Amino acid sequence: MEVLYKSTRGNGDTVTASQAILKGLSSDGGLFVPDSIPKLEVSLEDLSKMTYQEVAYEVMKLFLSDFTEDELKHCINSAYDSKFDTEEIAPIVKAEGAYYLELFHGSTIAFKDMALSILPHLLTTAAKKNQVKNEIVILTATSGDTGKAAMAGFADVPGTRIIVFYPKNGVSPIQEKQMVTQKGSNTYVVGITGNFDDAQTAVKNIFNDKEMAAELNEAGFQFSSANSINIGRLVPQIVYYVYAYVTLLKNGEIQAGEQINVDVPTGNFGNILAAFYAKCMGLPIAKLICASNDNKVLYDFFTTGTYDRKRDFILTSSPSMDILISSNLERLIYRLAGEDGAKNREFMKELTGEGSYTISEDMKKELADFYGNYATEAEVAATISKIYSDTGYVIDTHTGVAATVYNKYKQDTNDTTKTVIASTASPFKFTRNVMNAIDAEKYASWSDFELVDELSKIANVTVPNAIEEIRSAKVLHDLVVDAKDMPATVKKLLK
Ligand SMILES: *Cc1c(COP(=O)(O)O)cnc(C)c1O
Repeated sequence: MEVLYKSTRGNGDTVTASQAILKGLSSDGGLFVPDSIPKLEVSLEDLSKMTYQEVAYEVMKLFLSDFTEDELKHCINSAYDSKFDTEEIAPIVKAEGAYYLELFHGSTIAFKDMALSILPHLLTTAAKKNQVKNEIVILTATSGDTGKAAMAGFADVPGTRIIVFYPKNGVSPIQEKQMVTQKGSNTYVVGITGNFDDAQTAVKNIFNDKEMAAELNEAGFQFSSANSINIGRLVPQIVYYVYAYVTLLKNGEIQAGEQINVDVPTGNFGNILAAFYAKCMGLPIAKLICASNDNKVLYDFFTTGTYDRKRDFILTSSPSMDILISSNLERLIYRLAGEDGAKNREFMKELTGEGSYTISEDMKKELADFYGNYATEAEVAATISKIYSDTGYVIDTHTGVAATVYNKYKQDTNDTTKTVIASTASPFKFTRNVMNAIDAEKYASWSDFELVDELSKIANVTVPNAIEEIRSAKVLHDLVVDAKDMPATVKKLLK
């Protein structure tokens, strides 16, 4: 069955999967969603005998129905190769009564690699299929991890350029160093004086600017997005939830058909939405646990039905979740609104205009699959420290948010369903905060790289390549601009 894509703010008009990937965002400002969510065609039993790449094909072919078998397999095999430091691609570690699905074994050691290592291949394949002659310009706002992972994926890919904007004071030192040392003649990195939401809003405005699009078309360019609003990011993320389930099945941790919970440290709501889509495909998932940090706008939404972005933006030790406008939530709202583009458009207008919207009681009832909670900075540190001292396993700060919320969930519900926690970053990416959590006093005066070596020792894990690389790398990007100057900066960089 062919799956087509429609806009969350549209009237039901559809485009093909490859067109949706090329455009990123619909021209009416909405996000593309599949017109129906396909069911898994292969049994979980059979999937449990497959490699990651084979599972990826079985899942992705259902969503990307205008890609040929050869095209899709080529994309998958080019993405999930030796760039990952384990053949399993997404291994599972059991610790303290939960299953940690490690999504950080790719080239930039955060889960963004799971999708961004394949997106460039999907995008260039989609361009060929649609006879696109323009050079594709990827514009991305990043809260720290997307930018680096996108650049790693797109660097020196013919026919593409990539411009990344990040909040100058809102990312970890290692995240910043990873970005500003990025090589590749088609990569541009720009710091902005503002926060992630400022950067994301400005990028969305550039995408919606028809005049600018015409001007760039004239010059032989067209924009696309590597942000998690692109369906080409979302679909590859569904794969690892299926893979996690069948891995547990293969290892005898669960019985066929047994339900599991999935717990996801959430920012832009992309990763947890992928888990929700996996559930809609028929994967036996019971609860979707949505874990937030102090920017707990989603927790408040799940408890009250009101999404309210009018609050202070808090910088935390889990910067990739420091977000007040969770873009992908729009896809869920659209679904709850009965796939009514006009109704969803109203909510989004209220969000932009008044800063909040409230869903109806009926819509709220449909959120029963979700559980939201949040973790404070002190709780995250205590969780990291406790898991380390109990088991020797070291998790990063984002995963620490999810682990804390998992404990709260168990206390709240007494639910004993086996739970997979999405482990979204390597602790080496957030070494200072992780080591502070373990012993703040001892490590206060240590340098970043002294901490890296110490972490390697105490966790008994070799320092990942991504970190070794930046020890001595040269800074190649040092441009910083105001968020309001982003459109002009884009034109200047593209000349
Ligand atoms: C991006 C990111 C998140 C949040 O994921 P969303 O899909 O935006 O909800 C969580 N943890 C890490 C390490 C990330 O990089």
